[in-house]
Amino acid sequence: MRLSRHSKIGKNSYEFELSRKEMVESQIIRYGEIKDTNVIQAMLKVPRHLFMPESLKYEAYGDYPLPIGEGQTISQPYMVAAMTEALELKITDRVLEIGTGSGYQAAILAEIVEEVYTIERIESIAQQAKKNLANQGYTNIKIKIGDGTLGWEEFALYDGIIVTAGAPSVPEILFQQLKEGGRLVIPIGDRFSQDLILVRKQNGKPVQKSLLGCMFVSLVGKYGWRNGA
Ligand code: SAH
Repeated sequence: MRLSRHSKIGKNSYEFELSRKEMVESQIIRYGEIKDTNVIQAMLKVPRHLFMPESLKYEAYGDYPLPIGEGQTISQPYMVAAMTEALELKITDRVLEIGTGSGYQAAILAEIVEEVYTIERIESIAQQAKKNLANQGYTNIKIKIGDGTLGWEEFALYDGIIVTAGAPSVPEILFQQLKEGGRLVIPIGDRFSQDLILVRKQNGKPVQKSLLGCMFVSLVGKYGWRNGA
């Protein structure tokens, strides 16, 4: 007997697309907190399952973070949406991300704005992210390997800066690299739990707002935690 394409074990890309739609409806739209249609469109479009280890792709659309190697994680879909929405992005914005990880958050940003810069400290993770993003055809994302707590002076100033690892405090250099009116989202707290903070630069001064509780892996660097534990 010949097996049809659909009798293969696993999902085809159409089935992944359905899972993605279901993820957006049940995790992102349902509670009414995410309203930015650009964010919703980007979450519907980016194939999250192609940004994680092959063995985890069937879990990609679940309501939780997942491991991507080296003790690091890809954030829960809702967290990606909430952080992206908090940046209040428009197409002409220039955004810096600290903590490239899988490249998924960078892809979401790149669907919304023209220029994305992202920094990852772990070489093997950065190389995998480069592959993931190249496979998806992104040409508006620049990746650097290094300590993101120092920012990326060369392309500053930024309209938005997103830190996707937990820090003990807001690194001053990142605030300096924001434009007037720019937004910085960053999880601040201890090693195990943090508050997601939105910092806006108003008249050169930081205006802070706490958004929600969260749990991120550690931001490790000169102006973050001192080691990877
Ligand atoms: N945004 C990612 C998830 C990131 S997990 C995604 O969409 O998949 C946090 C990442 O931050 C990890 O890969 C970790 O290695 C990285 N990281 C931690 N400290 C860093 C630093 N100082 N500079 C750059 N990257 C850092």
